[in-house]
Amino acid sequence: NIPRTKPTPEVLNLLKDLQLTDDNLKQYMKLLMTDIRKGLARATHPTSIVKCYPTYIQDLPTGRETGKYLALDLGGTNFRVLVIELEKNHFEMTSRTFVIPQDKMVGSGKDLFDHVAACLHVFIKEQKLEQECLPLGFTYSFPLVQEALNKGIIERWTKGFKCDDVLGRDVVQLLQDSLVRRGIQKNVKIQAVINDTAGTLMSCAWKSPYCRIGLIVGTGTNACYVEKLTNAEMFNGPNKGSGVVLINCEWGAFGDDGTLNFIRTPEDIQIDETSINPGKQIHEKMISGMYMGELVRLLILRCVKARLLFGGRDSVDLNQKDKFQTKYVSEIEAQKPGNHDRCKAILENLGMQNLSDQDLQNVRFICECVSRRAAHMCAAGLSTLIKKTEEKRITIGIDGSVYRHHPYFHYLMMEKMKVLVKPGVVFDLMLSEDGSGRGAALTAASASSSI
Ligand code: ADP
Repeated sequence: NIPRTKPTPEVLNLLKDLQLTDDNLKQYMKLLMTDIRKGLARATHPTSIVKCYPTYIQDLPTGRETGKYLALDLGGTNFRVLVIELEKNHFEMTSRTFVIPQDKMVGSGKDLFDHVAACLHVFIKEQKLEQECLPLGFTYSFPLVQEALNKGIIERWTKGFKCDDVLGRDVVQLLQDSLVRRGIQKNVKIQAVINDTAGTLMSCAWKSPYCRIGLIVGTGTNACYVEKLTNAEMFNGPNKGSGVVLINCEWGAFGDDGTLNFIRTPEDIQIDETSINPGKQIHEKMISGMYMGELVRLLILRCVKARLLFGGRDSVDLNQKDKFQTKYVSEIEAQKPGNHDRCKAILENLGMQNLSDQDLQNVRFICECVSRRAAHMCAAGLSTLIKKTEEKRITIGIDGSVYRHHPYFHYLMMEKMKVLVKPGVVFDLMLSEDGSGRGAALTAASASSSI
């Protein structure tokens, strides 16, 4: 039962452009399908927007992988180092999270990877692994053109990172150089580089034989799916026998050529224009955690300007970029309908006073509009991928704080997918348990066994 807060009729009317109809979503699906097909055939469509990179992962886990592995997880808010011991149908994992200082996120690539190597070194010492040489799976969640399982060319940075001096360079080589400078190359053998969607899929596939799609809704959004090798025109490697390859869609970029203009709002445009990557990742900016709270803030201001909220008053904080955090959306919507305690506290903290119940109800409604639109777009995206796989039964592995913590995101997606997926196709959405760690270890395991 998904609650739906009743706003004032004027606010409902003012926010009409946030409500996507089923026709809008079906149109979106058609456009995405076209872009995926173009991405798969990039040789003949060099300007394709949804890149659909082949990952070189051709085998899904069997559940029989064993051994001890290191994993790195770089690509969002937290940077993590892990050691994972896989046993049959069971695994042990220890991890540590490190902070990436802002100056390393937007500095030189050498500094960033040296920092990564330094953290890995700290971890190796802590875990007393100095005498071992372990295979490492590197979860690297930025657009990458893969040339082998352990080679990938950095295409661009997203999600607030920008180390543009290393664009066009092999990310595995950059990390390897940093390991050498740090003197820990003897402890580590980099086996595979994967992104977080692939890790999510791998980790769910270890448990569910029907898993064919991975989705992330966290800082950013992206998806991957299992495609027939015959359709993956850009795949340029040996067929290892499975006849399939994992495709990293990089669907965050969907809309970068204007395709999504039919559903973008003035606030979507403003978020893009004031970002560090204007014109890029348009789809991601309408959905993911890095932007969701900011969208709510801008929509609150839209209502204030129309004098439909707070009697037309605002505050200094309410006018400041990123002051309304994405987790507030979850917190506000997690309250029982009619209970606005958290909403009131959040707004008071942003300098707003004398809030009426109707104000609070309207703000909750704004949150619902933004999260609902994001969930419905994800639902339409997944429905497109399900159609593309032609599977009749499919499990989708999902990770990311927005999916994990928003009280209704899962149900909003399910509700809409039931409308959009062809009748007769059975699907389920499965929360991934630590895909970027375990998924990287599983990929390193399958790489070690085939080398
Ligand atoms: P990442 O994608 O960076 O690996 P996460 O999956 O944790 O990591 O996503 C981080 C994003 O999730 C941030 O943009 C943050 O605003 C958002 N977020 C954090 N907590 C919540 C929450 N409780 N509800 C919704 N979004 C959240």
